[in-house]
Amino acid sequence: MPTFTLADRVAALPPYLFAAIDAVKARVAARGTDIISLGIGDPDTATPDFIIEAMMRAVRKPEHHQYPSYVGMEAFRREVASWYARRFHVNDLDPNTEILCTIGSKEAIGHFPLAFVNPGDTVIACPPNYPVYPVATAFCGGTTHFLPLLEKNDFLPDLDSVDAALWDKTKIIFVNYPNNPTAATAPLAFYEKLVALCRRHNVILAHDAAYTEIYYNSDDKPLSVFNIPGAKEVAVEFHSLSKTFNMTGWRIGMTVGNPLLVKGLARIKENLDSGTFHAVQEAAVTALRDGDAFCEELRAIYKRRRDTVVQALARAGIKCRVPQASLYVWAHVPQGYNSADFVTKMIEEKGVVLTPGNGFGAAGEGYFRISLTVNTERLEEAVARIATL
Ligand code: PLP
Repeated sequence: MPTFTLADRVAALPPYLFAAIDAVKARVAARGTDIISLGIGDPDTATPDFIIEAMMRAVRKPEHHQYPSYVGMEAFRREVASWYARRFHVNDLDPNTEILCTIGSKEAIGHFPLAFVNPGDTVIACPPNYPVYPVATAFCGGTTHFLPLLEKNDFLPDLDSVDAALWDKTKIIFVNYPNNPTAATAPLAFYEKLVALCRRHNVILAHDAAYTEIYYNSDDKPLSVFNIPGAKEVAVEFHSLSKTFNMTGWRIGMTVGNPLLVKGLARIKENLDSGTFHAVQEAAVTALRDGDAFCEELRAIYKRRRDTVVQALARAGIKCRVPQASLYVWAHVPQGYNSADFVTKMIEEKGVVLTPGNGFGAAGEGYFRISLTVNTERLEEAVARIATL
């Protein structure tokens, strides 16, 4: 009987957080418990009809049934450029060299280090963080230096704590605002400082901007890294239609920025995948062109949910900052618990699925994450159950 062993890079992986939570959830559900799932950040409301109708028209076109283009349809890349101009006042993205269609942003983030990281190279990530940055780095044989996000620093990395020698040997720094899981946003001054450091030390600035459209204060909208003059010398931005238009299942996103960096990712992709279904790209053109009113409604829904949760947590004596963006609330576990104990107890005894903060790295210890992806009644019920612990 042949036997097979996993490659070291796979054997070294931590268990995928949500898979482990799903296993406990299934066990508790089997006892007949009414489960409220506030774990994964997957929008619960539907993709809007105007996008579905565009998709239905597009899917009937035989020319879309063949292999897609590697870099994405020109119409899609042009629409991304127009959307960046309208939304961020970033007017100078060249659809031919500075925009690439991707299979959601996860695929792009996961593949990007393959284009630039050699074994032994250093990459900076800022935990608590989306786990793909260090995992993709490890797959290339790179080492991640963790620069924690602390509440006392408004969940921004302390850039001054990185010495010149570390900057000089760093290949890529990943940052993500609005941030998952802390829900923090980053001010212009932060991006200015980061862009200046990356230019000075020849570091690639990889900005994960998947949540920029889920914001609660329209006078202070989340920024693109390309709002900073000179950012294009060093930066790429990973974006996505997933959270903006409730399209997580459709798998479409875009990577924009420095042409050399965009091209590097394209080289990896053309060797590993064959792009995004053209019908999905055509529907995405409609979403980006006609979706502003929908996004406004979506933000109103999340804002009501955010207020419900923040007020209910306050009544329960659980501390959290009021999120200004993202679809998460990042809260302190009650005294006497660590993240894992608290979250396990909540699933086992109360049927409420939360995400333990330490699942995003040790810097998340002492916190838990609530995802605002169920309706307000269920959120009220969930926090009421948390309060009875
Ligand atoms: N970046 C962050 C911070 C995320 O939280 C997620 C998904 O939850 C992604 C990227 C990937 O999203 P998608 O691949 O659907 O664009």
